Amino acid sequence: MNRVIKKTVSNVCALKIPRKYFCSSEVMKVDGSTSILPSNEHEKKPIINKIIPEYDIAIVGGGMVGMALACFLASTPMTKQLSVAIIDSNPALGSGLCIKKEDPPDPRVSTVTPASISYLQDAGAWKYVEQNRHAYFKKMQVWDYTGFGYARYDSRDVNKDFLGCVAENKVLHSALLSCIKDSDFKTTFYPLKLTSMNLNSNSMSKVEENSPSKEPLSAQGHSSKLQLSDGSNIYAKLVVGADGGKSRVRELAGFKTTGWNYSQNAIICTVEHTSDNHCAWQRFLPTGPIALLPMGDKFSNIVWTMSPTDSKNRTSITEEMFLKDVNSALDYGYGPHPTSSSLGTRDMFSWLKMDASLSANEFFEIPPKAIRLASERMVFPLSLRHANSYASKHVVLIGDAAHTIHPLAGQGVNLGFGDAFTLSRIIAEGVALGSDIGEVNLLKKYEAERKPANVTMMAILDGFQKAYSIDFGPLNFLRAAAFNGANHISPLKRSIISYASGENKLPIFF
Ligand SMILES: Cc1cc2nc3c(=O)[nH]c(=O)nc-3n(C[C@H](O)[C@H](O)[C@H](O)COP(=O)(O)OP(=O)(O)OC[C@H]3O[C@@H](n4cnc5c(N)ncnc54)[C@H](O)[C@@H]3O)c2cc1C
Repeated sequence: MNRVIKKTVSNVCALKIPRKYFCSSEVMKVDGSTSILPSNEHEKKPIINKIIPEYDIAIVGGGMVGMALACFLASTPMTKQLSVAIIDSNPALGSGLCIKKEDPPDPRVSTVTPASISYLQDAGAWKYVEQNRHAYFKKMQVWDYTGFGYARYDSRDVNKDFLGCVAENKVLHSALLSCIKDSDFKTTFYPLKLTSMNLNSNSMSKVEENSPSKEPLSAQGHSSKLQLSDGSNIYAKLVVGADGGKSRVRELAGFKTTGWNYSQNAIICTVEHTSDNHCAWQRFLPTGPIALLPMGDKFSNIVWTMSPTDSKNRTSITEEMFLKDVNSALDYGYGPHPTSSSLGTRDMFSWLKMDASLSANEFFEIPPKAIRLASERMVFPLSLRHANSYASKHVVLIGDAAHTIHPLAGQGVNLGFGDAFTLSRIIAEGVALGSDIGEVNLLKKYEAERKPANVTMMAILDGFQKAYSIDFGPLNFLRAAAFNGANHISPLKRSIISYASGENKLPIFF
């Protein structure tokens, strides 16, 4: 009998039913999906004893990074036994995102680095991405409006199959969700928001006030109490703030931040070409960078940084005018095409060329023209924000809750995946040693590992942003020399590719 009850409970858990919906003696009727269908009988009976559920981990925010953490925990033997609550009011989490390959492309995409792909492959999530639209790219071209220089990168320079992969955010999100659903991980989704939090509250009283007779679920006394937007509460030994740039967890836990707004917006949208685009293109304009990223099926994504006034104008002009602006910004607009002989750079760097990379002699190319706007134009204000600390007792920050960066190098979610991967490993170490997973010394190990990596990337991108927002003769020359150096000095080129791919080693000369 005991075994039957245990089995029923574990099946219910696997189907991700919030525990607040069931009492120990009642059986739930479930339709086999993640939605909760209490039986009619159950509905008629009032719930007398409302037990406050307790979890090992509460992940606040089920965006790409929060879901990646759940996936990594689900795929690690040491952590797959942990009970996890995911709190997010995003309806996609409750209903499950149903994506079809022929759906119109989403304007929100991410360039996923080889390092992130390998984390997601190991966790079993990447195969779901590959079932939907995505585009691996082997080549990249970066240049600026002055016409002085350009750099081309090729995955063969570093003996890799690709430099990265562009996938729609909804594809990544649904892949992570599918991976969790297909595992037997004990995850419970709360389609709610976190409203308040009491870190390290005493879990001896894990029963709501109106249920005096029920014993607490456990009496370990090391949990935090989270209040959700419907007034209900849950307990968790560890609260993970994965709730994005305006993190409520960060605010409630009192983590201070450093940062600034860039007074720049990014317009993002999807455009269509006459044939497939296989290269990632980025041109630095005096107003900010424009990127054209391959998405597969003849689509590309535009990420175009500009002043708030320009972004307002460019989202209100006609499709025809907008496409004309895009095609001009990626061609002769703002300045001439660079040529390989500009600045005589081949000769300038010849003494440093230990062995020429394959792409060093490639000529500058003009990106494919956009012929149709295939999505709405969305605008995002850009800012840099960094939490001064990522961890304290019972609470930790990951992803944009810990750091928000400029999207010019497409690294934001990749840093977040790195956080999620490292945190899952540190939690596994804690479990293996029998430590309290909310213990601050354990969580500080995560911070010590991730903070230098995130701060370095933020500093480099902020430097780029500033270097390219100044239009000044000598600086233009230096920038062009940097492009050409990056194009012709093979060791530098390789280390830039490796760093941008998610390897932790810094590019030489930085
Ligand atoms: C224009 C643009 C282009 C970008 N391009 C790239 C790219 O190419 N590559 C790349 O790596 N990165 C890119 N980024 C960055 C990337 O999109 C972010 O780093 C990433 O989305 C962060 O994920 P996250 O899960 O940490 O946060 P979010 O995506 O912000 O998710 C946070 C989640 O928390 C939930 N939430 C918020 N508050 C609460 C609450 N109180 N209670 C419960 N839940 C809550 C929200 O509903 C949301 O689902 C780009 C960003 C921008 C703006």
